[in-house]
Amino acid sequence: MRAGAGLARIAIVALGPRSLGALEALVTHLADSGCRVSVDVFEPSDAPGAGPNFHPDESPLCLLNIPCRDIAIRPPVFSRCGNFVEWFAKRTGEQADPDSFPPRADLGRYLQARLDDLLDAAQGAITVIREQVTRIERSGAGWRVRTGGTLHAPYDEVLLTPGQPRVTPDAQLAEWHTHANSSQGQLAPAYPARQLADCALGWTGRSVAIRGLGLSTFDVLRVLTCGLGGRFDAQGYHPSGREPACIHPFSLNGHPPFPKPATKALDARFDLHRSEVDRFSQALAQAAVVDPDSAAAVINAALIPVVARILSACGAAVPEGAVDEWLQTEWTNPGSQENYSPPEALRIGIALADGSYVPTIGYAMGQVWRKVQDALRAGYNPADAPAATAQAMVGFDEGLKRYSYGPPLSAARELMALIDAGIVVLNLAADPDVILTDSGWTLEASGHTARVSVMIDAVLPSPDLSAIDKPPVSPLVEDGVLAPFAQGLAARTAPDGQVLDEEGRVVPRLCLLGRLALGSVIAVDSLHDCFGKSSDRWAKGVCARQNL
Ligand SMILES: Cc1cc2nc3c(=O)[nH]c(=O)nc-3n(C[C@H](O)[C@H](O)[C@H](O)COP(=O)(O)OP(=O)(O)OC[C@H]3O[C@@H](n4cnc5c(N)ncnc54)[C@H](O)[C@@H]3O)c2cc1C
Repeated sequence: MRAGAGLARIAIVALGPRSLGALEALVTHLADSGCRVSVDVFEPSDAPGAGPNFHPDESPLCLLNIPCRDIAIRPPVFSRCGNFVEWFAKRTGEQADPDSFPPRADLGRYLQARLDDLLDAAQGAITVIREQVTRIERSGAGWRVRTGGTLHAPYDEVLLTPGQPRVTPDAQLAEWHTHANSSQGQLAPAYPARQLADCALGWTGRSVAIRGLGLSTFDVLRVLTCGLGGRFDAQGYHPSGREPACIHPFSLNGHPPFPKPATKALDARFDLHRSEVDRFSQALAQAAVVDPDSAAAVINAALIPVVARILSACGAAVPEGAVDEWLQTEWTNPGSQENYSPPEALRIGIALADGSYVPTIGYAMGQVWRKVQDALRAGYNPADAPAATAQAMVGFDEGLKRYSYGPPLSAARELMALIDAGIVVLNLAADPDVILTDSGWTLEASGHTARVSVMIDAVLPSPDLSAIDKPPVSPLVEDGVLAPFAQGLAARTAPDGQVLDEEGRVVPRLCLLGRLALGSVIAVDSLHDCFGKSSDRWAKGVCARQNL
């Protein structure tokens, strides 16, 4: 392909939110750079732009984990549909409640409206090809892309944005799959929730377990209750009589995530001053390039005064050195320092979110961490972090998700109402033994036992490259083109998304954005990140390479 002022041919594998963000950045950047491109985007699903997590046909019971007031995926200049709240008002004639958490399907419809605007603005430069990519292969200085029996070529560049591809099931899940085929037990994935809702019609009166007690579990609980005609109000849960008799969610520690502050005013207590954000950004850029202990020390030094100030303003009595100590424990053993029983964790979370409890150190830390996510990415993502530092920082961020990625308060209250109604039981929630039986599974923990005939898997797999069993990613891993950054982390990429091989060399003109680059980038599991600076860097990189 000719360099200079020629036309760059680009293939993009997938058209979920990440790819939409990248394409918006590219089209925005084309205007300033004089770069000319022709883009083929391959996406087999019927929801281009939205992806499976925001599929417009997904159950409206699956909620975004961001309240309307905080949805900050700024539309590009050429977009006509405005921001989410403006688009929602235009479409429905109603103002979205700023404190409400909208259905993810609504976000999906909005993303598709942005895709329409993008395709118009691109004036034919972007073609969506409704096919699944089975392989990408080098071709001279560029690449070619296979979909089934068709070869598409040549491309100067390929961008991979496949989200979280299918993985080989972990040992427990693999055993359960085999077991479900040879017993009366039924094993079901949490998503698509509309499919789960169909299955749930046959689960009336049965006992159900849910593996996982994170955000997805709240979607599953709504499907198994409201999805079957039940309803919640201020008095509690009103069953329809079609629900399972009993639902047992469980996880390693049995703690549901802590809900976000209920209102703008409660949330504002955790706002950082501008100077504090600046200090944190500088600390992050410093931390990302030093050893893990030094990184923790630099980050702690930026966080401690902020959290201490906030706790003091909220009237929390915090002994000298307690915030520091909390952080030390968190770095050593991320996500594991609360010793609450599962129901206690739920009750305390509700009281923290509705403001009836003064914030704990963990709660304040988690909200502050949520508010510095952009600064975290801005400092970390362009840096070349040592592997051990990447592991420590990703572990710290993942651990704090129990606070920073909290559900709406309403979701925690619904869980409490289901416990009060005797439909959900948490006495087996903390790491039960799971025994295979002819009728399904028996859960056992601390002297409690429950027999269940349905098991729902609500655990999102890790982005471990070696577990991915789906092309085109799996052959790229086998060939050493995509290489893990370090144990427990995903692929190695440069700040602009260019893939780095096992030796750390740039794989020419192959880029990857999103969850499969966790470690090279941080805090990826967020819609905000899909429309953030990583996409801008990728777009600028494309144009810079074209002009070489
Ligand atoms: C259940 C769930 C709920 C979530 N909720 C939230 C939330 O409330 N708020 C939030 O900020 N984030 C949420 N996230 C995080 C979310 O993953 C991201 O915000 C966003 O969906 C990531 O977009 P993506 O494009 O990288 O991946 P995805 O949305 O997963 O899209 C990947 C796309 O790749 C396509 N694809 C895969 N393989 C191929 C192939 N071989 N050929 C062609 N196309 C292919 C798929 O069809 C799909 O459309 C959630 C994640 C999950 C799993």
